[in-house]
Amino acid sequence: MRQPLVIGNWKMNGRRHEAEDLLAAVVRGTADLVSVGIAVCPPYLYLPTALGVLGATGAIACGAQDVSAYTDGAFTGEVSAEMIRDIGCRFAIIGHSERRTLFGETDAVVAKKFARAQEAGLTPVLCVGETAAERDQGQTELVVSRQIEAIVAECGAASLAAAVLAYEPVWAIGTGRAAAPAEAQRVHAFIRRVVARHSTSAAQALRVLYGGSVKAQNARDLFIQDDIDGGLIGGASLLAAEFVGICRAAHLG
Ligand code: PEP
Repeated sequence: MRQPLVIGNWKMNGRRHEAEDLLAAVVRGTADLVSVGIAVCPPYLYLPTALGVLGATGAIACGAQDVSAYTDGAFTGEVSAEMIRDIGCRFAIIGHSERRTLFGETDAVVAKKFARAQEAGLTPVLCVGETAAERDQGQTELVVSRQIEAIVAECGAASLAAAVLAYEPVWAIGTGRAAAPAEAQRVHAFIRRVVARHSTSAAQALRVLYGGSVKAQNARDLFIQDDIDGGLIGGASLLAAEFVGICRAAHLG
């Protein structure tokens, strides 16, 4: 049995007092959901604030939205995975489509970031997914398997067993147009088959989250699919009632 996991990606949004208010409401709203893993990924600057509000209970974990591909050193403006782990984070989102498309991160760079995160003791949340054009050309499987194989080439297949994957079709992110549950399930099952080519036990243990316009209202239909183990949530993670509703759907799903 894979424990469901819901992760909020706040992106570059909010101010400190909003982070405090949002987290306090999420803590209140999810206190009884012991069977669901929950994490939030605020902007770097607000990670200490979030860790302070979430306290030592560990019920809701913190993660970063990215890590440097380098270890500590002369890399102005970068934040290392070791630093993120040092302050108490447990997760790091790696290879989000906004990093790939807006900041030119290649599969090779993403694989290095994945490696740095794992070396530091963080659980990488590897984002994979096709653009609208790639989907239209029938390349979804090709793109997703290429993105996963880049990790295997850099870090080995065993690394996937200690990671989380997030299938995030780029055309569904922030558009209000989530993938239909059956379509998402088909790609999630494919992802598990790609991992199974290397390790069947890793494929079974791996949590594969769906991301892309998940809301409280559509979450359950996605989360009840066999190979969908929860969600990576963007916009809706900024609204306490929505995010709590999504965590509750994972509890039921
Ligand atoms: C995301 O950016 O990871 C995401 C899933 O965004 P949204 O939920 O807003 O589509």
